[in-house]
Formats: sequence, structure tokens, C-alpha cells
Amino acid sequence: MRLRNVTGSREMIADSRFVVHEPFGNKGKWKEIFGNDRPLQIEIGMGKGRFIMELAAANPDVNFIGIEKYSTVLLRAIQKMEENELFNLRFIRMDAEDICEVFDKGEVAKIYLNFSDPWPKDRHAKRRLPSRQFLARYDAVLEKDGRIEFKTDNLDLFDFALGEIEPAGWKLAAMTRDLHHDEEMLEGNIMTEYEEKFSSLGNPIYKYIIYR
Ligand code: SAM
Repeated sequence: MRLRNVTGSREMIADSRFVVHEPFGNKGKWKEIFGNDRPLQIEIGMGKGRFIMELAAANPDVNFIGIEKYSTVLLRAIQKMEENELFNLRFIRMDAEDICEVFDKGEVAKIYLNFSDPWPKDRHAKRRLPSRQFLARYDAVLEKDGRIEFKTDNLDLFDFALGEIEPAGWKLAAMTRDLHHDEEMLEGNIMTEYEEKFSSLGNPIYKYIIYR
């Protein structure tokens, strides 16, 4: 998701107290930064932040970080936080390729990937967020019993993601090819912006939960 260039978005982000500006210096220090011992969950590619903001509001006993690559998109999330501040949520503008420089081994309790970019060309497969290259990065930062939850409406991306689980040393805990009609997996579901858009068009939503 890339929004039209918003003039001054970088400057507005640089001034925001909801953004962690030097994330690379915080590896191993996230409990200190949040000022408590609560578990840390992250969403990678959060877009405008609807999902993680609703999740953070419903779970005050958990710390959350939303990661987004593009300033213009992140800006929308910041604007929402200005209207409704959440003490347990912060944002980072970065490429998720670098997460091992930001989080220490076992520092993250759970990772959410929602409607990740499909990168349809084979030569770009390693850029897909559920690829084995990214699963190796998640393995390096996720706690022992940590899980990854992945949702998409893109069948090719979902099938690709399923095929990456075993070779990367992960295991499938649960999956559905129609989340919105799967009573068990739908329980507690929080819709993302893309989920709302694509499910309203009648597209099925695919979801898996994996662990290792
Ligand atoms: N998760 C939101 C949702 O479900 O509504 C947004 C989905 S949008 C298709 C994917 C988002 O992931 C975009 O905002 C994009 O900039 C971000 N993204 C893609 N690759 C990323 C990466 N390597 N690091 C950080 N963000 C990334």
C-alpha cells in the first residue's frame, strides 16, 4: 500500500512521540522503553494501523509495535493515535528485513502479518513476508513458544506461504481457507483495512497460525 505523496510526512513522523525514532539502538531494551515487563507483539506491514490499534486497545496487558515501511501510510496511523492515544502501542518506520537489528533473540511474543504484499514475480519471492527468508528472521526474534498469525485474500500467496512452513522448520497450528465462515478461527478476529475491503467483495480470507 502506497498512498499519494503527503507533503512533509517525513517531518511529521520525525516529530511524533508515537514513533520510535532510533529503533536500532533499542535491541534488547523494549521492556525498558515501555517501562514494564509485559509481552511484546508486533505487526509487520501494518498499513494505516486499524488492526493493531484495535488489538492494543483490547489488550492493555500487552505491548505492541506496528512496523510500516512507508511514511505516507504510517502518517495515517499517527493521525489516528493523535485522536485516540494508546499507551501500549508504538510505531516504527522501517523495512522488516532489518528486524533482527531491532529485536533481540526471544524478545517478541507474537508476530502478525496481515494482507502482506504478494510480490507475484518468482524472482521477488524472498521479499514476501511469509517467505522462508523472513521466517528465518522471525525465528531469530520470536520467543520459544511464539506464534505467527498470517491473513490474506491472495490464494497464490497463501499457498506459497503454506509451502514455506516445513522447509523453514515451522509447524502449522491451525489454518482456514474461509476465515469468515470458520466459527472457531473467527473468534476474536479483528478486521484489517484490507480485510474489510476484500471480504466485502466476497473474497474468502485465508489464515494460518504457525509455531516451531
Ligand atoms: N496490514 C494492512 C491491512 O491488512 O490492511 C495493510 C496491508 S498492505 C497490502 C501491506 C503493507 O505492508 C503496506 O503498507 C506496505 O508498505 C507494508 N510492507 C510491505 N513490505 C514491508 C516490509 N518489508 N517492511 C515493512 N512494511 C512492509
